[in-house]
Amino acid sequence: MFLFIKNAVNSILNFCFPSLCSGCNTILFNQELHICLKCQLNLPKTNFKSQDNNYTANIFKGRIPIEYANSYLYFRKKGIAQNLVHQIKYKKNLELGKYLGQQFGLDILEQIKNNPPDIITCVPLHKKKLKLRGYNQSESIATGISESLNIPFNPSIILKQTNSDSQTKKSRFNRWLNVDTKFILNPSFDIKNKHILIVDDVITTGATIETCGQLVLSQENTKTSFLSLCLSTH
Ligand SMILES: [Zn+2]
Repeated sequence: MFLFIKNAVNSILNFCFPSLCSGCNTILFNQELHICLKCQLNLPKTNFKSQDNNYTANIFKGRIPIEYANSYLYFRKKGIAQNLVHQIKYKKNLELGKYLGQQFGLDILEQIKNNPPDIITCVPLHKKKLKLRGYNQSESIATGISESLNIPFNPSIILKQTNSDSQTKKSRFNRWLNVDTKFILNPSFDIKNKHILIVDDVITTGATIETCGQLVLSQENTKTSFLSLCLSTH
């Protein structure tokens, strides 16, 4: 009886406030979760799956010695992936971030099993930005990946320094010199001898995630790998 009432209430709520697809904004059917079937079938997947030699990994060749790198979707302007990232980043649709992270994790199980990281973390947001927005979009994606891979997630391994105010007063050259010091390792965690997997929402040039990776590799006997929900090749 209770289930019947619950279902009836859900149906009425759904009728009055229908859930919309995060990819194309059409009304979702009851069995569809976050994304409609059409968008699900048209997701611009990279299909790198567990290949080690892929576009994302090649971005970092000769720049930083990573274990592996992978991306789930191709990011195109006005495409489905852009709508999904917009939903996660600006509309606080963290459940969508987690859902896509879970799907991505399942896609790359084989690659991860061969060389599993000890900890999953994400590219941090500046404290001020975090306070303003209230959440870090990459954290929701990393949570989903962590669940699918069954590997612990710690969002606080890398911190973004709060020196941006003083940065504006510095000369352009000094600001450039400072670019690598925007991120610091959290002194509360010892990552020696650990393999740290870093997650970001979109990789374009890879400069940000590389800076985080270099910090990890500055510690004794560490390894690092990179994952991004999206890969922008333009
Ligand atoms: Zn759709």
